[in-house]
Amino acid sequence: MTNKTDYYEILGVDKGVDKEVLKKAYKKLALKYHPDRAPKDKKEKYEKKFKEISEAYTILGDDKKRKQYDSFGHDASAQGFGGFESSGGFSGDNLSDIFKDLFESHFAQNTKGYTEQWGESSFRGAYNTRAGDDLQYGLTIDFEEAVFGCEKEIEIRKHVSCDSCGETGAKNKKLEKCDKCHGEGRITINQRTPFGIFRQVATCDKCNGEGKIPKQKCRHCNGQGIVNDKIKIKIKIPEGIDNDQMIRVEGKGDAIKNGRNGNLFIVINVRPHKIFKREGDNIYMNFPISFSQATLGCKISIPTLKGTKKIKIASGTESGTIVRLRGEGIKNVNGYRTGDQFINLKIQTPKKLNRKQKKLFEELAKSE
Ligand SMILES: [Zn+2]
Ligand SMILES: [Zn+2]
Repeated sequence: MTNKTDYYEILGVDKGVDKEVLKKAYKKLALKYHPDRAPKDKKEKYEKKFKEISEAYTILGDDKKRKQYDSFGHDASAQGFGGFESSGGFSGDNLSDIFKDLFESHFAQNTKGYTEQWGESSFRGAYNTRAGDDLQYGLTIDFEEAVFGCEKEIEIRKHVSCDSCGETGAKNKKLEKCDKCHGEGRITINQRTPFGIFRQVATCDKCNGEGKIPKQKCRHCNGQGIVNDKIKIKIKIPEGIDNDQMIRVEGKGDAIKNGRNGNLFIVINVRPHKIFKREGDNIYMNFPISFSQATLGCKISIPTLKGTKKIKIASGTESGTIVRLRGEGIKNVNGYRTGDQFINLKIQTPKKLNRKQKKLFEELAKSE
C-alpha cells in the first residue's frame, strides 16, 4: 500500500474532468515548475514537483492507465494489471514525449501562448525537440547478402530541405522583417479575465516565431522550405542480419523546417536459399548419399556457406544421421559467436539397377 498523493490532487483537478481540462492543467503546472525555471534555492523542490506532475499526467493522460488508476488507485500495479510503477511506466522517454507534445501543441496553436515569464532558454530548447517523421522501408535481400553483409542503395520519396531557398521558403533566400511581430517572433495578447487583464506572450503565427518572412515565396516549395523528393540512400547491411530485423539509419527520415530530421528504419526480408535453411545462427541442409557409400564409408564434398568442405562418412552410417560442422554457420549479427552447419544424411535406396548391379545385390542377399 502506498500513501502517495492522489494524481488528481497533484494536477489540481476533479476526478471526472475530461482530457482537455486535464491536459491544460498539466501544461500550466509543467510550465510553472519546469526545472529550468526554478529559482536557485528551489531547484530541488521544482524538480520534485515537476516529476510528480509528469508522473500524474503519464497515468491520467492515458485512457487505459487512467481507468486502472480510477479502479485501483496507486495499487494498480499490485493487481497485476501491468500497472505503471513496477513496469517503469514513468520513464524519461515518456516524459520527453509528453514534453514534445506539450511544446509542439504550443507551436501548433500558438494563439494560446505561454506566460511572459517563460524563459528564453526553454523556448529554444523546446524548438529543438521538433523532428520530422520517422520512415519505414522494407528491403528484400538475398540469403548470402544477409549472411555476409552488403551495401545497398535504395530510393525513397521523402520530405527534404528545399535546395532553392535553403529551407527559408523565400525566393532567392530574401527575407524581410515580419510585420505582425516587428521581427520579435512573439506577440502580446491582453486577455480580459475576472481577475483583471492578463498579459500573455504568444509565438507569432505569421512567421512561426522566426521574426522574418519571405519577401516572395520560393516557387519550388511554395514557401514551405521543405519539398517532397525522391532520393537515393546507401544502406550498410551488417553481416548476419536475419528476417524481420531492423536497421536504424539516423537522420534519414523526413525533414522538417527548423527541426531535426526523423530517422529511417529498414526492415529486412531475406529470400530463402535453395539448399540451406536458417534458424538463428545455424544452418541446416539435407544431403543424399548412396547405399554403398553409407555401408562402406567414404569421403564426400559438402557445400558450405564459404565453398565446399570434405567430410568423412563412417561405414555403417544410417539414414537420418546428423553431421555437425562447428563454426560453419552464420556469424551473429552482434558479433558474439558463429553458428554451426547441420547436415542430415539421407540414404538413397537405388530404384533402377543395371544387370551387373542387380547380380551383385543378389549375391549380397544370398550371403545374408
Ligand atoms: Zn524553397
Ligand atoms: Zn512574426
